[in-house]
Amino acid sequence: MQTSTDFSCILCGENSLPSIVQHSVKGDRHGVLQVVRCRNCGHFQLNPPMYSIDYYNEDEQVNFVVHDYGTPIEKIVEHSWIDAKRRLKRFQQRGIALEQISSAEPLRILDIGGGYGFFGSEVKRQYPNFDVKVLEPSSKRAEMGQKYLSEAGESHPVPDFVTELLNEDFVAKYQGTYDIVTMWHVLEHVPNPIPFLGLACQLVKPNTGLVCVEVPNGDDELMSLSPAFRDRNYMIEHISYFNRHSLETVARQADSQAKINLYGYQRYGIFNYFHWIHFNKPQGANPDLLEGEDRWWLEATWRAAREQALTSDALFMIMEKS
Ligand SMILES: [Zn+2]
Repeated sequence: MQTSTDFSCILCGENSLPSIVQHSVKGDRHGVLQVVRCRNCGHFQLNPPMYSIDYYNEDEQVNFVVHDYGTPIEKIVEHSWIDAKRRLKRFQQRGIALEQISSAEPLRILDIGGGYGFFGSEVKRQYPNFDVKVLEPSSKRAEMGQKYLSEAGESHPVPDFVTELLNEDFVAKYQGTYDIVTMWHVLEHVPNPIPFLGLACQLVKPNTGLVCVEVPNGDDELMSLSPAFRDRNYMIEHISYFNRHSLETVARQADSQAKINLYGYQRYGIFNYFHWIHFNKPQGANPDLLEGEDRWWLEATWRAAREQALTSDALFMIMEKS
Protein backbone atom coordinates (compact mmCIF):
# COMPACT_ATOMS: atom_id res chain seq x y z
CA MET A 1 0.00 0.00 0.00
CA GLN A 2 1.37 3.38 -0.97
CA THR A 3 1.69 6.20 1.50
CA SER A 4 2.38 9.87 1.00
CA THR A 5 6.03 9.36 1.97
CA ASP A 6 6.49 7.26 -1.17
CA PHE A 7 6.13 10.24 -3.46
CA SER A 8 8.54 12.95 -4.40
CA CYS A 9 7.85 15.21 -7.36
CA ILE A 10 10.87 15.12 -9.67
CA LEU A 11 10.41 18.81 -10.48
CA CYS A 12 9.47 20.51 -7.20
CA GLY A 13 10.20 17.86 -4.55
CA GLU A 14 6.63 17.91 -3.23
CA ASN A 15 5.91 14.91 -0.98
CA SER A 16 2.17 15.17 -0.39
CA LEU A 17 0.10 12.42 -1.96
CA PRO A 18 -0.32 13.18 -5.68
CA SER A 19 -3.51 12.67 -7.66
CA ILE A 20 -3.66 9.50 -9.73
CA VAL A 21 -3.89 10.10 -13.48
CA GLN A 22 -3.65 6.49 -14.65
CA HIS A 23 -3.37 3.23 -12.72
CA SER A 24 -1.46 1.23 -15.30
CA VAL A 25 1.55 1.98 -17.47
CA LYS A 26 2.42 0.38 -20.81
CA GLY A 27 5.38 -2.00 -20.54
CA ASP A 28 5.18 -2.24 -16.74
CA ARG A 29 5.24 -6.04 -16.42
CA HIS A 30 5.20 -6.00 -12.63
CA GLY A 31 2.29 -3.59 -12.32
CA VAL A 32 4.06 -1.30 -9.86
CA LEU A 33 3.88 1.99 -11.74
CA GLN A 34 1.25 4.71 -11.85
CA VAL A 35 0.99 8.05 -13.60
CA VAL A 36 0.45 10.80 -11.07
CA ARG A 37 0.07 14.57 -10.97
CA CYS A 38 1.89 16.65 -8.39
CA ARG A 39 -0.51 18.66 -6.25
CA ASN A 40 1.98 21.46 -5.88
CA CYS A 41 3.38 22.14 -9.36
CA GLY A 42 1.02 20.06 -11.53
CA HIS A 43 3.76 17.92 -13.12
CA PHE A 44 2.69 14.57 -14.61
CA GLN A 45 5.16 11.75 -13.91
CA LEU A 46 5.55 8.06 -13.26
CA ASN A 47 5.56 6.99 -9.67
CA PRO A 48 7.99 5.62 -8.72
CA PRO A 49 10.18 7.37 -11.35
CA MET A 50 12.09 4.29 -12.50
CA TYR A 51 14.99 4.38 -14.91
CA SER A 52 16.70 1.21 -16.07
CA ILE A 53 19.69 1.21 -18.44
CA ASP A 54 18.91 -2.49 -19.05
CA TYR A 55 15.70 -1.43 -20.73
CA TYR A 56 17.67 0.65 -23.22
CA ASN A 57 20.37 -1.99 -23.70
CA GLU A 58 17.70 -4.49 -24.66
CA ASP A 59 16.11 -1.91 -26.95
CA GLU A 60 12.71 -2.64 -25.49
CA GLN A 61 11.04 0.54 -26.69
CA VAL A 62 11.74 -0.39 -30.31
CA ASN A 63 10.79 -4.03 -29.67
CA PHE A 64 7.48 -2.91 -28.26
CA VAL A 65 6.59 -0.83 -31.31
CA VAL A 66 7.47 -3.80 -33.53
CA HIS A 67 5.48 -6.35 -31.54
CA ASP A 68 2.59 -4.39 -30.12
CA TYR A 69 1.94 -1.82 -32.83
CA GLY A 70 2.86 -4.14 -35.69
CA THR A 71 5.23 -1.60 -37.23
CA PRO A 72 8.10 -3.47 -38.97
CA ILE A 73 11.65 -2.49 -38.07
CA GLU A 74 12.30 -1.31 -41.67
CA LYS A 75 9.48 1.20 -41.33
CA ILE A 76 10.83 2.40 -37.99
CA VAL A 77 14.23 2.95 -39.60
CA GLU A 78 12.66 4.76 -42.57
CA HIS A 79 10.72 7.00 -40.20
CA SER A 80 13.84 7.68 -38.16
CA TRP A 81 15.50 9.14 -41.26
CA ILE A 82 12.48 11.32 -41.98
CA ASP A 83 12.59 12.49 -38.36
CA ALA A 84 16.33 13.21 -38.60
CA LYS A 85 15.89 15.32 -41.75
CA ARG A 86 12.97 17.23 -40.28
CA ARG A 87 14.84 17.85 -37.04
CA LEU A 88 17.65 19.49 -38.94
CA LYS A 89 15.07 21.61 -40.78
CA ARG A 90 13.66 22.89 -37.46
CA PHE A 91 16.66 25.19 -37.07
CA GLN A 92 16.04 26.89 -40.37
CA GLN A 93 12.29 27.09 -39.64
CA ARG A 94 13.10 28.92 -36.40
CA GLY A 95 15.47 31.38 -38.03
CA ILE A 96 18.75 29.68 -37.14
CA ALA A 97 21.14 29.50 -40.11
CA LEU A 98 23.64 26.78 -39.21
CA GLU A 99 26.09 27.73 -41.98
CA GLN A 100 26.34 31.24 -40.59
CA ILE A 101 27.09 30.27 -37.00
CA SER A 102 29.97 28.17 -38.26
CA SER A 103 31.76 30.81 -40.34
CA ALA A 104 34.96 30.99 -38.24
CA GLU A 105 35.50 27.37 -37.25
CA PRO A 106 33.58 24.10 -37.68
CA LEU A 107 30.30 24.16 -35.79
CA ARG A 108 30.34 21.82 -32.80
CA ILE A 109 27.16 19.86 -32.17
CA LEU A 110 26.50 17.37 -29.40
CA ASP A 111 23.43 15.15 -29.67
CA ILE A 112 22.65 13.89 -26.17
CA GLY A 113 20.93 10.50 -26.02
CA GLY A 114 21.44 10.24 -29.77
CA GLY A 115 20.64 6.52 -30.01
CA TYR A 116 21.68 5.01 -33.33
CA GLY A 117 23.03 8.35 -34.49
CA PHE A 118 20.58 9.07 -37.32
CA PHE A 119 20.37 12.78 -36.51
CA GLY A 120 24.15 13.02 -36.15
CA SER A 121 24.59 11.23 -39.47
CA GLU A 122 22.15 13.54 -41.24
CA VAL A 123 23.98 16.60 -39.90
CA LYS A 124 27.29 15.15 -41.18
CA ARG A 125 25.70 14.41 -44.55
CA GLN A 126 24.47 17.98 -45.03
CA TYR A 127 27.40 19.68 -43.31
CA PRO A 128 30.47 17.42 -43.68
CA ASN A 129 32.81 19.90 -41.97
CA PHE A 130 30.77 20.14 -38.74
CA ASP A 131 32.10 18.44 -35.63
CA VAL A 132 29.23 16.16 -34.60
CA LYS A 133 29.22 13.93 -31.54
CA VAL A 134 26.55 11.50 -30.38
CA LEU A 135 26.44 10.96 -26.63
CA GLU A 136 24.65 7.67 -26.02
CA PRO A 137 24.59 5.93 -22.61
CA SER A 138 23.76 2.51 -24.06
CA SER A 139 26.87 0.93 -25.60
CA LYS A 140 24.71 -1.62 -27.37
CA ARG A 141 22.75 1.09 -29.16
CA ALA A 142 25.90 2.99 -30.09
CA GLU A 143 27.44 -0.19 -31.54
CA MET A 144 24.30 -1.07 -33.46
CA GLY A 145 24.12 2.48 -34.84
CA GLN A 146 27.76 2.50 -35.94
CA LYS A 147 27.37 -0.88 -37.62
CA TYR A 148 24.14 0.11 -39.35
CA LEU A 149 25.48 3.45 -40.60
CA SER A 150 28.79 2.07 -41.83
CA GLU A 151 26.94 -0.65 -43.76
CA ALA A 152 24.48 1.88 -45.20
CA GLY A 153 27.23 3.44 -47.33
CA GLU A 154 28.62 6.89 -47.99
CA SER A 155 25.22 8.59 -48.05
CA HIS A 156 24.99 7.91 -44.30
CA PRO A 157 28.20 9.21 -42.69
CA VAL A 158 29.03 7.84 -39.24
CA PRO A 159 29.27 10.58 -36.59
CA ASP A 160 31.56 10.19 -33.56
CA PHE A 161 29.92 8.19 -30.79
CA VAL A 162 30.73 8.71 -27.13
CA THR A 163 29.39 6.04 -24.79
CA GLU A 164 29.13 8.02 -21.56
CA LEU A 165 26.52 9.43 -19.28
CA LEU A 166 25.84 13.13 -19.11
CA ASN A 167 27.22 13.91 -15.66
CA GLU A 168 29.57 16.29 -13.80
CA ASP A 169 32.65 14.49 -15.16
CA PHE A 170 31.50 14.90 -18.74
CA VAL A 171 30.72 18.58 -18.16
CA ALA A 172 34.14 19.14 -16.55
CA LYS A 173 35.75 17.96 -19.80
CA TYR A 174 33.58 19.83 -22.30
CA GLN A 175 32.17 22.87 -20.48
CA GLY A 176 31.34 25.80 -22.78
CA THR A 177 32.70 24.12 -25.91
CA TYR A 178 29.61 23.34 -28.02
CA ASP A 179 27.67 25.62 -30.32
CA ILE A 180 24.55 23.48 -30.19
CA VAL A 181 23.44 20.72 -27.86
CA THR A 182 20.37 18.76 -28.92
CA MET A 183 18.11 16.41 -26.97
CA TRP A 184 15.51 14.79 -29.19
CA HIS A 185 12.95 12.96 -27.05
CA VAL A 186 15.38 12.43 -24.18
CA LEU A 187 14.25 14.64 -21.29
CA GLU A 188 11.06 12.64 -20.69
CA HIS A 189 13.23 9.54 -20.04
CA VAL A 190 15.41 10.90 -17.24
CA PRO A 191 14.57 10.79 -13.52
CA ASN A 192 16.17 14.23 -12.86
CA PRO A 193 15.20 16.57 -15.71
CA ILE A 194 16.19 19.88 -14.07
CA PRO A 195 19.81 19.00 -13.15
CA PHE A 196 20.11 17.00 -16.40
CA LEU A 197 19.12 19.98 -18.56
CA GLY A 198 21.31 22.16 -16.32
CA LEU A 199 24.33 20.03 -17.26
CA ALA A 200 23.44 20.28 -20.95
CA CYS A 201 23.26 24.09 -20.64
CA GLN A 202 26.79 24.17 -19.22
CA LEU A 203 28.16 22.42 -22.30
CA VAL A 204 27.31 25.19 -24.75
CA LYS A 205 29.34 28.33 -25.42
CA PRO A 206 28.45 31.37 -23.29
CA ASN A 207 26.53 34.15 -25.11
CA THR A 208 25.97 32.22 -28.34
CA GLY A 209 25.27 28.55 -27.46
CA LEU A 210 21.91 26.91 -28.09
CA VAL A 211 20.29 24.00 -26.27
CA CYS A 212 17.48 22.42 -28.29
CA VAL A 213 15.03 20.10 -26.62
CA GLU A 214 12.11 18.20 -28.07
CA VAL A 215 9.69 16.13 -25.99
CA PRO A 216 6.29 14.51 -26.52
CA ASN A 217 3.53 16.94 -25.60
CA GLY A 218 1.41 15.99 -22.58
CA ASP A 219 -1.23 18.38 -23.94
CA ASP A 220 -1.47 16.51 -27.26
CA GLU A 221 -5.17 16.93 -28.08
CA LEU A 222 -5.34 13.32 -29.26
CA MET A 223 -5.18 12.34 -25.57
CA SER A 224 -8.73 13.59 -25.13
CA LEU A 225 -9.99 12.30 -28.48
CA SER A 226 -8.84 8.65 -28.35
CA PRO A 227 -8.91 6.68 -25.08
CA ALA A 228 -6.64 4.02 -26.63
CA PHE A 229 -4.08 6.65 -27.56
CA ARG A 230 -4.21 8.02 -24.05
CA ASP A 231 -3.65 4.54 -22.57
CA ARG A 232 -0.64 3.85 -24.73
CA ASN A 233 0.81 7.30 -24.25
CA TYR A 234 1.77 6.45 -20.68
CA MET A 235 4.73 4.10 -20.93
CA ILE A 236 7.45 2.73 -18.72
CA GLU A 237 10.24 4.54 -20.52
CA HIS A 238 8.68 8.00 -20.17
CA ILE A 239 9.07 9.23 -16.62
CA SER A 240 7.80 12.77 -17.34
CA TYR A 241 4.81 13.98 -19.39
CA PHE A 242 5.65 17.60 -20.11
CA ASN A 243 3.38 20.36 -21.28
CA ARG A 244 4.38 23.94 -22.08
CA HIS A 245 4.25 24.97 -18.42
CA SER A 246 6.30 22.14 -16.96
CA LEU A 247 8.85 22.26 -19.77
CA GLU A 248 9.31 25.99 -19.22
CA THR A 249 9.65 25.42 -15.49
CA VAL A 250 12.40 22.87 -16.09
CA ALA A 251 14.21 25.22 -18.49
CA ARG A 252 14.05 28.22 -16.12
CA GLN A 253 15.40 26.23 -13.24
CA ALA A 254 18.07 24.54 -15.33
CA ASP A 255 19.44 27.91 -16.51
CA SER A 256 17.79 31.07 -15.18
CA GLN A 257 19.75 33.28 -17.60
CA ALA A 258 18.82 31.54 -20.85
CA LYS A 259 16.18 32.92 -23.19
CA ILE A 260 13.48 30.31 -23.72
CA ASN A 261 11.57 29.86 -26.98
CA LEU A 262 8.89 27.20 -27.00
CA TYR A 263 7.03 25.91 -30.06
CA GLY A 264 4.53 23.24 -30.94
CA TYR A 265 5.68 20.59 -33.41
CA GLN A 266 3.50 17.97 -35.10
CA ARG A 267 5.40 14.77 -36.01
CA TYR A 268 2.65 12.41 -37.16
CA GLY A 269 0.31 13.03 -40.04
CA ILE A 270 -3.40 13.68 -40.17
CA PHE A 271 -4.25 10.09 -41.24
CA ASN A 272 -2.65 8.75 -38.08
CA TYR A 273 -4.67 11.26 -36.07
CA PHE A 274 -7.95 10.30 -37.76
CA HIS A 275 -7.18 6.59 -37.34
CA TRP A 276 -6.75 6.92 -33.59
CA ILE A 277 -9.98 8.92 -33.32
CA HIS A 278 -12.08 6.82 -35.69
CA PHE A 279 -10.85 3.30 -34.86
CA ASN A 280 -9.44 4.02 -31.42
CA LYS A 281 -6.34 1.95 -32.14
CA PRO A 282 -2.85 2.43 -33.62
CA GLN A 283 -2.36 2.60 -37.37
CA GLY A 284 -0.08 -0.42 -37.19
CA ALA A 285 2.22 -1.39 -40.02
CA ASN A 286 2.61 2.05 -41.51
CA PRO A 287 1.67 4.95 -39.24
CA ASP A 288 1.28 8.16 -41.22
CA LEU A 289 4.24 10.45 -40.84
CA LEU A 290 3.42 12.24 -44.09
CA GLU A 291 6.24 11.14 -46.35
CA GLY A 292 5.17 13.07 -49.43
CA GLU A 293 3.87 16.52 -50.25
CA ASP A 294 0.70 15.42 -52.03
CA ARG A 295 -1.85 16.54 -49.46
CA TRP A 296 0.20 19.30 -47.97
CA TRP A 297 -2.64 21.82 -48.44
CA LEU A 298 -4.64 19.80 -45.91
CA GLU A 299 -1.80 18.93 -43.56
CA ALA A 300 -0.35 22.43 -43.45
CA THR A 301 -3.48 24.08 -42.06
CA TRP A 302 -4.12 21.32 -39.55
CA ARG A 303 -0.50 21.26 -38.39
CA ALA A 304 -0.26 25.03 -38.07
CA ALA A 305 -3.42 25.17 -35.93
CA ARG A 306 -2.21 22.48 -33.55
CA GLU A 307 1.31 23.83 -33.33
CA GLN A 308 0.04 27.31 -32.58
CA ALA A 309 -2.33 26.06 -29.88
CA LEU A 310 0.51 23.89 -28.46
CA THR A 311 -1.74 20.82 -28.71
CA SER A 312 0.57 19.14 -31.28
CA ASP A 313 2.19 15.79 -30.52
CA ALA A 314 5.55 17.34 -29.62
CA LEU A 315 7.02 20.48 -28.08
CA PHE A 316 10.25 21.99 -29.39
CA MET A 317 12.24 24.35 -27.20
CA ILE A 318 15.31 26.43 -27.99
CA MET A 319 17.27 27.85 -25.05
CA GLU A 320 19.63 30.67 -25.99
CA LYS A 321 22.55 31.28 -23.66
CA SER A 322 23.00 34.88 -22.64
ZN1 LIG B 1 5.75 19.12 -8.28
